[in-house]
Amino acid sequence: MENIYIVRCGESALKGKNKPYFERMLVQRIKKNLKEFDGTAVERVDGLIFVRTPETVPADGVLKKVGRVFGVDSVSPAVEVCIEGMDAETALNAIGQEAVAFMMRQIEEKGIRTFKVDAKRADKTFAIQSPDIGKRIGARVLKGCKVLKVNVHEPDYHLYINVRRNLAYLYDKKVSGYGGLPLGTNGRGMVLLSGGIDSPVAAFLMAHRGMYVEAVHFHSYPYTSERAFEKVKDLAGILTDYCGRIRMFSVNLLPIQEQIVQNCPEEETTILVRRFMMRIAEAIAKREGDLMLITGESLGQVASQTAASLVVTDASVSLPVMRPLIAMDKTQIMDIARDIGTFETSILPYEDCCTVFLPKHPVTQPKLERIEQSESRLEVEKLVQAAVDSAELTIISQRDGI
Ligand code: ATP
Ligand code: MG
Repeated sequence: MENIYIVRCGESALKGKNKPYFERMLVQRIKKNLKEFDGTAVERVDGLIFVRTPETVPADGVLKKVGRVFGVDSVSPAVEVCIEGMDAETALNAIGQEAVAFMMRQIEEKGIRTFKVDAKRADKTFAIQSPDIGKRIGARVLKGCKVLKVNVHEPDYHLYINVRRNLAYLYDKKVSGYGGLPLGTNGRGMVLLSGGIDSPVAAFLMAHRGMYVEAVHFHSYPYTSERAFEKVKDLAGILTDYCGRIRMFSVNLLPIQEQIVQNCPEEETTILVRRFMMRIAEAIAKREGDLMLITGESLGQVASQTAASLVVTDASVSLPVMRPLIAMDKTQIMDIARDIGTFETSILPYEDCCTVFLPKHPVTQPKLERIEQSESRLEVEKLVQAAVDSAELTIISQRDGI
């Protein structure tokens, strides 16, 4: 025996001529996410994707793993009825018989008393139309399950029927996925990953639009601890559930921070550090062939994220900088962080390199000329190159468990 799941593609279904490409990518991603479940098959049939697993594979695990694949709109465990070679009346009889058995199980397991049937004839050559399929199956269920009544407005239970060529499906719940586009359909970007709440969410959102992500993390060892770095690795580990394997570069920013502190005005420390972070991230990104930088900045959240500061930060690099959180409030960002499972790790209290030399009164309206003047006291290119050369690579593999 096997379990069957119907997977609906979201936006990928809308992509015109590219549709087969997006669906193929989606099938690949689903297969990859389910690879730990031996004997699982994933196939695409007329705009839907069907997952078949051995009966021993827990449904919860499959639903969770498939729901995390970007491009999946929703997924439902389903019962399959073979109607191959049957005329419509015989087929309806077979579906009705299965529907009664299906509903008996729901009565036993969930104590339902009212229901509604929603039927859809995906195979337009099937001789009975959708509303009639619904009505007739409903009548059959009423006859077979004496305790049930129909309630079309607020049913305890919604039974869906989908009649396709040769096969029909019965299912109830739809587990929502994240939608978006399959990973790998939109190039690769480099996220600046701190240990905070925001940047993991930013990485998630870009991956959600089909972009592979890799990461660069800055630390100030020994001012920041080994444990603080472990925390960032943990965050990247959680992200792999959605983004697949992540290559993470780590860079010690301390030599640069010391130069800034010694040579530049105190109130400019943060913005100067940020421009260095961007330059280093960009140099690594260009070397690795990444198309964009990604940060967790949100307009006005802190001094370095005022509109004026962002303009000055942007001026340090030529690659496009994606800021998917730019117009979100912290509460919205926190909601996403909770939903994707990064929040609890993000709030663990470990030091961050940005807090090592924090000025008392950071500039909030920096002027590019002033900042460039301050930087002229530093050997910018040399410092950036040394940082890039010292970057260490950690591979964060995709986690298997759930
Ligand atoms: P987060 O919650 O992501 O740490 P934040 O609100 O603390 O963000 P900042 O510290 O100003 O804001 O950082 C803004 C962005 O700069 C972060 O979202 C991240 O993309 C990047 N960033 C900050 N610190 C680091 C770091 N130590 N390593 C890599 N990137 C960083
Ligand atoms: Mg931070």
